[in-house]
Amino acid sequence: MSGTSVLSQTHLLSLPNNPPQSSELNSKFNDKGWLSLHKRCKCMEEFKQVHAQILKFGLFLYSFCGSNLVATCALSKWGSMEYAFSIFKQIKEPGSFEYNIMIRGSVNNMNLEETLFLYVEMLERGIEPDKFTYPFVFKACSLLGAFKEGVQIHGHIFKVGLDGDAFVQNSLINMYGKCGAIKHAYAVFEQMVERSVASWSAVIGAHASVEMWQECLMLLGDMSSEGRHRAEESILVSALSACTHLGSPILGRCIHGILLRNISELNVVVKTSLIYMYVKCGCLEKGLSLFQNIAEKNRFSYTVMIAGLAIHGRGREALRVFSDMMEEGLAPDDVVYVGVLSACSHASLVNEGLQFFNRMRFEHKIKPTVQHYGCMVDLMGRAGMLREAYDLIKRMPIKPNDVVWRSLLSACKVHLNLEIGVIAAENLFKLNQHNPGDYLMLANMFARAKKWNDVARIRTEMAEKHLVQLQTPGFSLVEANRKVYKFVSQDKSKPQCDTIYDMIHQMEWQLKFEGYTPDMSQVLLDVNEEEKRERLKYHSQKLAIAFALIQTSEDSPIRISRNLKMCSDYHTYTKFISMFYEWEITVRDHNRFHHFKDGTCSCKDYWRISLHLCLKDSYRDSIFTS
Ligand code: ZN
Repeated sequence: MSGTSVLSQTHLLSLPNNPPQSSELNSKFNDKGWLSLHKRCKCMEEFKQVHAQILKFGLFLYSFCGSNLVATCALSKWGSMEYAFSIFKQIKEPGSFEYNIMIRGSVNNMNLEETLFLYVEMLERGIEPDKFTYPFVFKACSLLGAFKEGVQIHGHIFKVGLDGDAFVQNSLINMYGKCGAIKHAYAVFEQMVERSVASWSAVIGAHASVEMWQECLMLLGDMSSEGRHRAEESILVSALSACTHLGSPILGRCIHGILLRNISELNVVVKTSLIYMYVKCGCLEKGLSLFQNIAEKNRFSYTVMIAGLAIHGRGREALRVFSDMMEEGLAPDDVVYVGVLSACSHASLVNEGLQFFNRMRFEHKIKPTVQHYGCMVDLMGRAGMLREAYDLIKRMPIKPNDVVWRSLLSACKVHLNLEIGVIAAENLFKLNQHNPGDYLMLANMFARAKKWNDVARIRTEMAEKHLVQLQTPGFSLVEANRKVYKFVSQDKSKPQCDTIYDMIHQMEWQLKFEGYTPDMSQVLLDVNEEEKRERLKYHSQKLAIAFALIQTSEDSPIRISRNLKMCSDYHTYTKFISMFYEWEITVRDHNRFHHFKDGTCSCKDYWRISLHLCLKDSYRDSIFTS
């Protein structure tokens, strides 16, 4: 290769045949000569030649020669850990410097267990680790998820007196965060005497990694009120994730403002995080305008925009963005295609979806993953092509997962096809996901077909498998006055509880005149009518809306995020509210957005046939649509 030939012409060929005398060596080669030549190597071939010459002339014993060679070989992009080890073993008395290099190189090359062996070996040889050792050892623990070992090594830093070193403490916070031990992470942070911006970044990142979003934002608030550090990009990106997950565009906008003030030029990654936050918080237009202003869009920003338009049901626009991406010469990958297919699915663009699925496979040679099949089954299912969807599943070259079967089951529920629905449910149950929603979907279908024995059978099965307890309690998050409030069904925890309940009564009374009646016709309940009504009336989404109507100033739309899928009574109710109170309401359920305005919803009521089924008092929430 050319690099080798250049090296051999300019350096190796000009070397003297006999080993130079030390004075000669000192003047000619030692400092600027080829004891440092290894640093200029560009590949292992060159490096091995330099190493060979060093051995040949007996220079290896020169102080630091071995260490420098190890450093270059272990830490260069082109290096080899195996070769670095062989040199390392030749060093007679390696110290912490050499061990640190090997530890760092091992982590960088993901030889994580090797890293811990090196650390133990270091201790056994009586070499004291220093502040450059621990960050990499903790990194290895975090990547291995080795919490226990991490705790033990945490003990060592007290022994070597590094427990007060900020650099080591920051890496410790990161390690605990990645291992999900958030209490440990926070305890280290709390005990720090001197917190740098990196410490804040570590503790906020740790909370983000375990999805404690509220705490992320609170910590950012603490940091700002301390007023000693400016939030850096990584912190603000964590905070943006928090806003995204909390569905809080107002807080998100604040973070956007801080980003603009603190960072002179936002890069495309940060801009894309912003777009993601806005579209996931229901502010699609804001996300779109940011997207249009990115001068150099990459595949990632296109992917986020396409997926964003998809969940807002704006399939045609998503496809236009996709064609812009193609025009820019960016090759689509499997992730972009998931967005494209789900855009077709959410907007019921069946023909387009089928065309894109073929284009992906045959034109772009992308092997469909289980997600692509999931989108296709969803798309066909929505269009009522249940037989075709089932045939597609049977032809899949990979094993269908729960999402695929669940899509088919949902579609069968919407289009009332019990025959295929039962097949889908049986396959779903075989996967042992133990998702109560799946059982309830099937029970709902039997109930609609008036097959009460089958309903009873499913209920018994659920009770035997203790699935009732597994049901995720439903909750709704709503933003008001720059805070995010969480409501569960029949929630009485808020100080404004009485006002909220008064508002609910008032709303229901008014909506009655508009023609709203609680949708209990399809509800399968073992409780009396009064209790059914109570459960529907004080559902988390209704409480959140009532609260927002009291708290929100006029003109600002109400935004609610829910952890479960929407169901028909709440959907109808929210449509009435949007009409009667002339208020825009956006609800994000577990897979899409519903924009309510003037009594209609952007989802066009695709799932309107859904119904809920409740079993006795053991449920905390009465939405069990899927
Ligand atoms: Zn809707």
